[in-house]
Amino acid sequence: MAMYIVLVGPPGAGKGTQAQIVSETLCIPHISSGVIFRENLDNQTELGKLARSFLEHGELVPDDLTIAMIRERLSRPDCKDGALLDGFPRTTDQAEALAVIMNELYDRQVDAVPFIHVHVNALIERMTGRLTCKAGGHVFHEKHNPPKLAGICDYDGSELYQREDDKEETVRHRIHVYFDQTAPLIEYYKDAGKLIEIDGNKSIEEVSADILSALNIGV
Ligand code: ADP
Ligand code: ADP
Repeated sequence: MAMYIVLVGPPGAGKGTQAQIVSETLCIPHISSGVIFRENLDNQTELGKLARSFLEHGELVPDDLTIAMIRERLSRPDCKDGALLDGFPRTTDQAEALAVIMNELYDRQVDAVPFIHVHVNALIERMTGRLTCKAGGHVFHEKHNPPKLAGICDYDGSELYQREDDKEETVRHRIHVYFDQTAPLIEYYKDAGKLIEIDGNKSIEEVSADILSALNIGV
């Protein structure tokens, strides 16, 4: 059964980590707006040049650029049987644009929106200890989820690095941006009857099990 899922939550809540597990279980593509932006930065594309300073300062990239990027990604054939969006939408305007895109491309709407919530202090600790892989955007944590070999991604053997925007000062700013611009999405999806609240303070395995069972998927 095709399933379109949007993961929401503050930066550092575990969206990328859970998206990786849930998308593999459901055999649907994992679409992370942050990963796509960082690929564009690395490849110095036109989009990358336009987005760079927003990422560096922990600000949101303007909606028009972000929405066009996601529309293009969702229109690819691998999304015709479902997709898991991670990091998009991040504003109610983006959510409204997503509804239009879903309608135009697939004549349907998003099925479910797991909202992963985590205490603010834990968010800071999770982001400042995050290790990100250069090739595929896989994530680890120096304490909570260390790679098998220090500095090397378990999945693709590429190098792990600390994202520039995971320094504490930018992390604090991104949390502020989240409460200011992204938190209203929670009400938006609650009103639409799509929101599923998930306690993200538990272990990675427990959070995955909670998301899958909330989606009615036995493992
Ligand atoms: P997001 O995509 O929401 O920003 P990530 O999935 O990148 O979050 O996770 C942020 C950091 O927290 C990573 O270093 C990850 O390994 C770690 N992490 C994710 N989930 C948990 C968890 N349940 N408990 C402890 N650490 C976690
Ligand atoms: P996090 O792990 O904190 O959830 P992401 O990797 O999702 O971070 O995003 C990193 C940065 O990419 C954001 O701080 C922002 O600059 C940009 N970005 C990602 N998704 C969006 C979006 N939907 N709208 C605007 N900017 C975005």
